[in-house]
Order: sequence, then structure tokens, then C-alpha cells
Amino acid sequence: MRILVVEDEPKAGDYLRKGLTESGFVVDLARTGPDGLQCAIADAYDLIVLDVMLPGMDGWQVVQELRKTQQTQQTPVLFLTARDDVQDRIKGLELGADDYLVKPFAFAELVARIRTLLRRGPIRESERLEIADLEIDVLKRRVTRGGVRIDLTPKEFALLHLLAKRQGEVLSRSLIASQVWDMNFDSDTNVVDVAVRRLRAKVDDAYSRKLIHTLRGMGYVLEARE
Ligand code: CA
Repeated sequence: MRILVVEDEPKAGDYLRKGLTESGFVVDLARTGPDGLQCAIADAYDLIVLDVMLPGMDGWQVVQELRKTQQTQQTPVLFLTARDDVQDRIKGLELGADDYLVKPFAFAELVARIRTLLRRGPIRESERLEIADLEIDVLKRRVTRGGVRIDLTPKEFALLHLLAKRQGEVLSRSLIASQVWDMNFDSDTNVVDVAVRRLRAKVDDAYSRKLIHTLRGMGYVLEARE
């Protein structure tokens, strides 16, 4: 399996190349956006690890070009982002990234994500999610239930998207707070309860089949229960 790492920070790039080589991958390293793009197009890689902040051309621009180019349209891209910002994640997803890792990360986690992406093959993270009659078009940020359009604020959308991506999984308030609001664990997670209430008013209240469920003392889960 061949991996292209695009990382401008010399230490980080060398560390990634060494570690991934030791993990059994064949690794090439590019240190600027334009070099990364050129390498990716010139050579067939199974996966690209792409830093967001790069000289010459940032990771966003690189992934946009990769998706426009036939040879690299389907190549899985794992972004390395410096901050855990939901807007960054949505942007990356819209532009065609497949996964993200926030710096600093554990190397074992990077390898695990890479292996998951390689197993999954060239299918990108779902751009459309369906739970019962709820449909989420991630790229267009369009939500419908039973074919009826539901208008959500950006935060409501981010919250619903998170719950839907991990449907069936109970998400704690602190996890939701950190993913959607970029707040730390000590923050007042009451904001999560308020947001879930608003989201429910739009997504569930008018329907007999409820999709957002509360698990007392644990958090929230989105699932279609019979
Ligand atoms: Ca960088």
C-alpha cells in the first residue's frame, strides 16, 4: 500500500514517513501543496495524508484539485487539522475529504484510521444519510422528513449530522459539546440540552415516530426504533 504524506513541517513530515514506513506502508513525502498535488497526480497512491496548512496551496485547495482530477478522484484523503472545528470538518467533507485527525494525535490512531479507510476502499464518507424517513444531504445541507423540507441553523445541522453519522450510538453531552461547539468537558453542557430540544421541535415533534431519544444520565441517540 502506497501512501503520500503532504506535510510542510520538517519534523512532523519525517516522523510520519518513518512511522508509516515502519507500519508497513510505502511512503512518499511532499512538503508543499503544489508538490503534493503533483506527486498525487503523477503517481498512483492508495491514500493521501494531507495537512491543511501548507505553503503554496493549502490542503483545501489540494483536495479540490484532487477531486477534479480523474486519477485522484477516488483516492481516500485523510486531513490533518490543527484545530478541532466543526466548520473545518464540514468544509473538508464538502470538498471531498474522507476523514480527519486533529493534531496532536496518537500515531496508533493515525494508523488505525488509515487502515479503516483502506479497507473501506474508495467510497467516500456518505454524503447522504437516511434514518427512517429522515434524509440528510450533507453536501447541500438539506434535511427532509417524509419529503418535507426542514430548515435548520448551522449548529442544528451540525448536531443532527453528528447524531446521524453515529446513529444508534449514545453520545454524551460532553462529546456533543466538544464536537459541535468546540467546548471542553467542563463547559456547561446545558447548551446541548437546549439545542437538542430545538432540534427535536423541528425534526420529531410533528411526527409520531421519534428519532432522537434521551438516555437519562448518558446522553442522546438518534435511531429509528420500531
Ligand atoms: Ca502545516
